[in-house]
Amino acid sequence: MKKQYIIPIFVPHLGCPNDCIFCNQKSISGQKKNMTKEEAKEIIDNYLENIKNENAQIEIAFFGGSFTAIDVNKQEELLELAYEYVKNEKVESIRISTRPDSIDKETLKRLKKYKVKTIELGVQSANDYILRRSNRGHTFEDVKKASKLIKWYGFKLGHQMMVGLPESTRIDEINTAKALIKLKPKMVRIYPVLVVKNTKLEEEYKEGKYEPLPLVQAVETCKQLVAMFVKKKIDVIRVGLQNTDEITNPDKKTSEVIAGPYHPAFRQLVESSLWYDAIVAKIKKLNVKVKEVEVTVNPTDSNSVIGHKKGNVLKLKDTYDVDLILKQDENIKPGKSKIEITKIYHDFLEE
Ligand code: SF4
Repeated sequence: MKKQYIIPIFVPHLGCPNDCIFCNQKSISGQKKNMTKEEAKEIIDNYLENIKNENAQIEIAFFGGSFTAIDVNKQEELLELAYEYVKNEKVESIRISTRPDSIDKETLKRLKKYKVKTIELGVQSANDYILRRSNRGHTFEDVKKASKLIKWYGFKLGHQMMVGLPESTRIDEINTAKALIKLKPKMVRIYPVLVVKNTKLEEEYKEGKYEPLPLVQAVETCKQLVAMFVKKKIDVIRVGLQNTDEITNPDKKTSEVIAGPYHPAFRQLVESSLWYDAIVAKIKKLNVKVKEVEVTVNPTDSNSVIGHKKGNVLKLKDTYDVDLILKQDENIKPGKSKIEITKIYHDFLEE
């Protein structure tokens, strides 16, 4: 199987007509100045030099800002550069991320010309009040229109949504996931809101008008959302912002994050919690007192089954007095498992 690699090129805030309450693209991307063709080329060449895998499936991704809102000449300059690598078969595809109100037929035709494969839309919420409250500058109707058009032109559609926006509740976030599922994206990203320096949200937070989600609550909500998307076979390609020198623990000097549910292994917390629920559900189905459970998974899932800092092992022991034994099997697909009860209390007493 081919291993996927993404070459990220951040095009920060460039051309973005908006100032979303939570956004400081320059902090989030770590990119302080605008992207030039020369810089983009350097980034791509550096990545390519370091990817040694012969079976690599490489994609150039223009993240951040609103790619299709930037000056058309700049778009073409960056796309032309990326397309050269596709033509030379050094890279397989191109992806961009943008705002839903920066998509129209003409834009999509341009992206087609340069063989862009995937378009990710920043949706954030399906609730127009919450979108307005966060100063998104578009409605959910824009998301629907853009999503349909993107699919109609044959691109792969991706959505990005947020958890913990001002005045958004878990119900709103579940409703957003339901609304997105109806639009049939191929993939989604879920971002819990962090309070980043030099944003309007920072002001609101300092004035006591915005309270970020506690970590436990953010994990719980994301867990529900991930389960909903997975059930509909939609890839959840990211949960939580990528850790960088800037997006890191608020206690660190270099951190641009002031508050919010930051965790270096946020996705793992969510996945571990899903595994924990699956194991407990299996135990509860049986009408016996379980003493030991054996979970066999693909090696890639091992850490999530065990939990961050063995969290699941300890919680099962503390809550149910159950020992968790982990087994790995390459033949089991990632995300799938075999859960067997290997000892019940009766056996244990007889030992
Ligand atoms: S649309 Fe995107 S880049 Fe522009 S302010 Fe909002 S989040 Fe930031």
